[in-house]
Amino acid sequence: MSTRRCDACGARVEVPGGVGDFWDFGDLEKAGPGGLTLELEDGSEFFLCFDCIERLPENPSPADVAAISDE
Ligand SMILES: [Zn+2]
Repeated sequence: MSTRRCDACGARVEVPGGVGDFWDFGDLEKAGPGGLTLELEDGSEFFLCFDCIERLPENPSPADVAAISDE
């Protein structure tokens, strides 16, 4: 496993470092990487945890990501 930092809330998020680690989570709902890289329509990319992704509206803009990080 390796960790990345959420670009919005700053949480450290575990991401699979190898296929063998993928199913080692106890909770099936979390059986996967804790975040993902989101590419916005303007081409900018953010690595976000799922908590932040759930809080974004559809078709988020960088301003929406910034709004989350301000909270
Ligand atoms: Zn986050």
